[in-house]
Amino acid sequence: MSNGLSSLQLSPVDLSQKIKLGSKAASIEGPIDKTALQAATSTLLARLNELQEMFHADGRHALLLVLQGRDASGKDGVIRTVYGAFNPIGVHVAAFGPPTPLELRHDFLWRVHQLVPPRGMVGVFNRSHYEDVLAVRVRELAPENVWRARFDHINTFERMLTDSGVIIRKCMLHVSREAQHERLQARLDDPTKNWKFRLDDLKDRDRWDAYTDAYREVLERCSTPSAPWYVVPSDDKTVRNYLIAQMLVDTLESTKSTFPPMDEAVRTAAAGFD
Ligand code: AMP
Ligand code: MG
Repeated sequence: MSNGLSSLQLSPVDLSQKIKLGSKAASIEGPIDKTALQAATSTLLARLNELQEMFHADGRHALLLVLQGRDASGKDGVIRTVYGAFNPIGVHVAAFGPPTPLELRHDFLWRVHQLVPPRGMVGVFNRSHYEDVLAVRVRELAPENVWRARFDHINTFERMLTDSGVIIRKCMLHVSREAQHERLQARLDDPTKNWKFRLDDLKDRDRWDAYTDAYREVLERCSTPSAPWYVVPSDDKTVRNYLIAQMLVDTLESTKSTFPPMDEAVRTAAAGFD
């Protein structure tokens, strides 16, 4: 019997169709065997660990996963569970909060560029330069002509990075309004989660539709063949982790990384050492 996993995989956003960002798109269609999904996720995480060792040794590329999503959409959870599969020696994590006064005196990519992972490393951004066309737009922190010009700046910046060996994948963790409610409520109710609750998150929740419009434009303007955007149904954490882990396995496999062979001169010089 089918366990429902065979058709479960992410595709880059399809620019020929209207991108679905309603509640339904936050879940997958059809029944799924939860036990099989858990087991398949564990297998993918083990494979990620193997692939990363070769990727690190090979050193020709860097990987940058950009995570965006509303509050409580699971960005931290992806880092903990999916990036938790990697050897920390080769991992580069960066989180972006409101810019500091110094950062505001620079161009918006200044603080981002220096946190791009170097070759050999697998990196992840918890929020990113996309906040400069999302939060900045919705909260009206800059005039429209300023944030609008940034779509082109971002595409050019990302193309420069991919030309320099950085493999970019971008995931929007898509949660429904109901799931966000449940998770924010848990942050109020559960003493181990209280520390994550911020009143400002409710302000952003009030601007739900404005964020949906802003996300839609990001996905339409900034998904490119070499730096694609994926909308990840994220109401179910196991589904979310499975989908991202699988996409990363495919991405790392596509680099055809190998362990570099030993230099024969080194082997000769080392022969018979004691
Ligand atoms: P968190 O990810 O929950 O720690 O929250 C970080 C906060 O910083 C979010 O409310 C983001 O919208 C905000 N933030 C991140 N980058 C920017 C930016 N460039 N401009 C304004 N707000 C930002
Ligand atoms: Mg938050």
